[in-house]
Amino acid sequence: MGADPRLAAIFTHIDTQRDRFVERLIDYVRHPSISAHNVGIREVAEILVGMLTGLGLDTRLIPTAGHPMVVARWLKAQGAPTVLLYGHYDVQPPDPLDLWITPPFEPTIRDGRIYARGVADNKGQHLAQILAIEAHLKVHGTLPCNVILLLEGEEEVGSPHIADFVRDNRELLKADLAVTADGPLHPSGRPTIKFGSRGVVNFELHARHAGRDVHSGNFGGVVPNPLWTLVHLLATMKNERGDITIEGFHDDIVPPTPQELEAAARLPLDLAAVKRSLGLDRLDAPGERDYYERLCFRPTLTINGLHGGYGGPGAKTVLPHEAVAKCDIRLVEAQDTADILRKVEAHVRRHAPEVKFVTHGSGMQPSKTPLTATHAAPLRRALLAAHGTEPLIYPAGFGSLPGYAFTKILGIEAFVTPYGNSDEANHAPNENLTLDCFHNGIRTGAALLEELGRAH
Ligand SMILES: [Zn+2]
Repeated sequence: MGADPRLAAIFTHIDTQRDRFVERLIDYVRHPSISAHNVGIREVAEILVGMLTGLGLDTRLIPTAGHPMVVARWLKAQGAPTVLLYGHYDVQPPDPLDLWITPPFEPTIRDGRIYARGVADNKGQHLAQILAIEAHLKVHGTLPCNVILLLEGEEEVGSPHIADFVRDNRELLKADLAVTADGPLHPSGRPTIKFGSRGVVNFELHARHAGRDVHSGNFGGVVPNPLWTLVHLLATMKNERGDITIEGFHDDIVPPTPQELEAAARLPLDLAAVKRSLGLDRLDAPGERDYYERLCFRPTLTINGLHGGYGGPGAKTVLPHEAVAKCDIRLVEAQDTADILRKVEAHVRRHAPEVKFVTHGSGMQPSKTPLTATHAAPLRRALLAAHGTEPLIYPAGFGSLPGYAFTKILGIEAFVTPYGNSDEANHAPNENLTLDCFHNGIRTGAALLEELGRAH
């Protein structure tokens, strides 16, 4: 660190602009862009187009079947690698509004944090990437590597068009690696590289027997109970040991390499603190499974909700006539969303043909980049240079991001480097980004471009 005068000059510039950059973030997050309600999307996309065109990037606003994509390219570093920086300019709805200490679209600084909807997820994080590009251009008049920014307007509604968009724009998005700055850092504040993410699909199970609710005495034992129907069906899908028992469910899973298992085992963990903070006596079955192995390498089947019958005060001797279970599955490499949904549907048909199986959307595929990837080393050095500490290596992230569009469609390496504080409260009231995390994000973005340029 410090040893590199080119990067040191940029860090100095970023330090002197610290307050000015915070003002720019405040200006940016003041504009709502709620994809779920189609509020402000176009306006914010156009703000980005103005900002990126102003920096001298070749910028376009490209329509999709949903909200538009912003693509901005700077490709003048001949022979240097091209990094695709992905982010999303849409935000979650701010409800419940009464739990916000200050209004979600009136950004406020308190105790070293900016509070606003979208400030961490994801506007502050991709603005940090943009300001890093700006810093390079201001200080050195050029960029050390080629850059393509891809900013999506519907990540918060599940990125329904990203796969088609990437497939249709392969040439425009031709890059050597993709980097996403999204999500929170580890609670220790240490920088982080995630080499993948789990996929996700949703489905519902609908059971209905009688045409109306009936008396549990007058008809109990005659009329089948849809809640029991779902309970029995669900019990055939996952056993008490925690094994998912849907036929063929595990067929395509690529087991983690010894190196990946080792990386997961090296991640810091205070299990007692995790349990304390969650009010938990035990982990989900099987009890002996390693904490990070569960989150990085294992699929899940979660009952999000089971609804039907009477839930009010006191007793009601009713036999309900319909029930619904809402479920999600987190997929791991190389499970396929369509294949898994087909297998769940076939399982339902086999075990409870009278239950209706319903899906919403196609979900997100899992994604994984090998730990030995070409661009892992410059990325690691960049995080070290910006933070002064070695990054944590996550062989896979736990949640779901559209990284598969880069690994599976473009066929390039994809990494996630979160810039947000671990208590950013994304998707919740009082979402916030610490001024330090924002500042470090800009430094990290700048170091990333520098290290990628140096590596070739
Ligand atoms: Zn989000």
